[in-house]
Amino acid sequence: MTTQPHTRRALLGAGAALALARKAAAAPESLAFAREPAQGMLVTGRTAPGTRLALDGRNVRVSPAGDFAFGFGRDAGPQASLHITHPDGRAETRSLAIHKREWRTQRINGLPERMVTPPDEVMARIRAEQERLNATRRVDTPEAWFAEGFLWPVHGPISGVYGSQRILNGQPRAPHLGLDIAAPTGSTVVAPATARVALVGDLYFTGNTVILDHGHGVATFHAHLSRVDVREGDHLPRGTPFGAVGATGRVTGPHLHLGLFWFSTSLDIQPLLSAE
Ligand SMILES: [Zn+2]
Repeated sequence: MTTQPHTRRALLGAGAALALARKAAAAPESLAFAREPAQGMLVTGRTAPGTRLALDGRNVRVSPAGDFAFGFGRDAGPQASLHITHPDGRAETRSLAIHKREWRTQRINGLPERMVTPPDEVMARIRAEQERLNATRRVDTPEAWFAEGFLWPVHGPISGVYGSQRILNGQPRAPHLGLDIAAPTGSTVVAPATARVALVGDLYFTGNTVILDHGHGVATFHAHLSRVDVREGDHLPRGTPFGAVGATGRVTGPHLHLGLFWFSTSLDIQPLLSAE
């Protein structure tokens, strides 16, 4: 099966088409990844329209143009199995090696104790919020907006990275599964890629929170906002302002906690952010 270079060029622009052409030259296959599988990584790519994919037995949506995305969690590996059914009906299974990564340890002290170990009376609230988040993370939207790539929603120093083991007030807690970008309260936050607003809420841990759905289960998570200017269901072209940095929820200072999801799997957005 041949690919369709004219369609690709029209959709992706010259730079991306060139990158794809280089990729195609290196690996003359009908399925190309934009980056190699690794722990915490969103793997996007292009294949021939009409191809069907399944990762470890789970169907992966392929857009009419051939775009697809899947992800590997922080502790994934060492291998995954990708089943490919080509448009001509030929089927094959490829074993993907998942590159292992090292994670840091981050100690944060001076947090209010109720934020480290929530009091019993808020447990019902936290459970209800978790249910809402889980439901949002099951949505599989047909648009492939993630294929545009991701802008920085706000610029600032990195104050926390994905994957780090967290020790809060001396107590080991779940790993940090997002990127913290420090910026003053009120700094404008923009949509990193075209999106539908999937969730707006004031949540116990993450304060004013927005989830943007970029299609195929790929979503970005924006937490601790001081202000939210959009509503669920709104359509946001790439780069549209939708809120402002703040210090709501469990924080020690104003910053944007930026998460990346592939359905229920939390991924590392930092390697995907554009240079600008
Ligand atoms: Zn964070």
